[in-house]
Amino acid sequence: KVRVRFAPSPTGPLHMGGVRTALFNYLFARKHGGEFLLRIEDTDQTRYVPGAEDYIAEALNWCGITIDEGATVGGEYGPYRQSERKPLYREYAEKLIASGDAYYAFDTAEELDAIRNEYEAEKKTFTYNPDTRDNLNNSLALSADEVQAKIEAGTPYVVRFKMPVNEELHLDDEIRKHVIFNTSALDDKVLFKSDGMPTYHLANVVDDYLMKISHVIRGEEWLPSMPLHVLLYKKLGWEAEMPKFAHLPLILKPVGKGKLSKRDGDKLGFPVFPLLWTDPKTQDISSGYREDGYFPEAFVNMLAFLGWNPGTEQEIFSMEELSEAFSLDRVGKSGSKFDPEKTKWFNRQYLVTKSDEEIGQLFSKEVLAEKGIEADSDKVTRVCGMVKDRVDFISELWDQVNFFFEAPLEFDAKTAKKAWKGEAAELMQELKTILSDISDFSSANTEIIVKEWITAKEIGFGKVMNPFRLAMVGAGKGPHMFDIIELLGKDESIARLDYAIE
Ligand code: GLU
Repeated sequence: KVRVRFAPSPTGPLHMGGVRTALFNYLFARKHGGEFLLRIEDTDQTRYVPGAEDYIAEALNWCGITIDEGATVGGEYGPYRQSERKPLYREYAEKLIASGDAYYAFDTAEELDAIRNEYEAEKKTFTYNPDTRDNLNNSLALSADEVQAKIEAGTPYVVRFKMPVNEELHLDDEIRKHVIFNTSALDDKVLFKSDGMPTYHLANVVDDYLMKISHVIRGEEWLPSMPLHVLLYKKLGWEAEMPKFAHLPLILKPVGKGKLSKRDGDKLGFPVFPLLWTDPKTQDISSGYREDGYFPEAFVNMLAFLGWNPGTEQEIFSMEELSEAFSLDRVGKSGSKFDPEKTKWFNRQYLVTKSDEEIGQLFSKEVLAEKGIEADSDKVTRVCGMVKDRVDFISELWDQVNFFFEAPLEFDAKTAKKAWKGEAAELMQELKTILSDISDFSSANTEIIVKEWITAKEIGFGKVMNPFRLAMVGAGKGPHMFDIIELLGKDESIARLDYAIE
């Protein structure tokens, strides 16, 4: 049975890379009729950030990623917050000590720093591993009595994993395929801390085992931890239940080399977080995709293509379609470049397929209501329909259609210079009289009458249409002129002509 988990540490807002990890786990679970779990890995209490867990839950919810089991919804393998599972881990640390696969270490932070400095002075890096551990302050170097005495005296200790000496590990990853590690290059990681809490490594493996996780799908930054995790499964006697591993490729910066970071977003003007985040310490605010007006469907669709592709030309996928098409076989090994322009493109694809009514409703709710403008919903629908293929976001509609809701009080200087010259004022005066006499103010009808008049006068269309547009819109932009005046209505159109003529 497929059971996968998303296991964030609540140390801050979820980065979009984190959301992608959650998404791929979710899609994998849906595809195989399995379960998707949310486990909160909060064993490092020094890095705990209040609000981060709620943020994670809200972000997943916004994306439409539903949780089958976990911290926010419960389930039979709970609790799903590691801090609430604290009493459970000690037993496994002790089991490893008893089998000789882990040991007590009494080194203080000062002692370790001093050793590190010695190594650095010789331009070497210190690693707590088979090469060095026999001379350090731990139960492998001390006699059994000394160890006993230290423990009885309440000397703080950690439990470290005893990394085997010079063993070649051949491991399989669903994405990276065959990977080889030599244990001598790895250090004796701390499994259990003096505060009685497990570290990430121990808690992660114990919980994946107890929660019957079948596949560990996570970011590539965890690949170096895989040999330790595999060894833990072996030493704890859980090899048969060991999950399969899949390490997702990095998300790379749009320009330059390396991993995408918040700084890239700040520099190039795009969010790296799904939702707005206020740092509880500094009160710094970072915008999110939601606040920037992205549709969650577009954000999810974009994320799916960061590392995965369907192997066909199709680019637009609903969550449903993604769940059907997704497979780890089609996740690439190499990092994928994040492209902010393509992300906008995705948003646009979702925007243009919405009906005019739907766009109108969103525009009323998100833009007009904010500005305190009340408008007839049919009018809003028509206005939005006229310009929807010119924008990527609902919020951008305002710039395209503001003049429908607010008469221009000022005129764009550049346009005015070109459009309002010579006999413009007289022509607009005449046009006003013509419009006043029209009773059927439909776009088609006003167009015929006004064009006949222009033709009869034997002047260029621009001479009339340019100042006319300026008077109605305040600038040189906008959809078809006669559609505009039909929507504005006769009285308003004439009032605007009057204002411009003055
Ligand atoms: N708590 C880890 C993180 O924050 C989870 C890594 C894993 O999925 O094993 O990314």
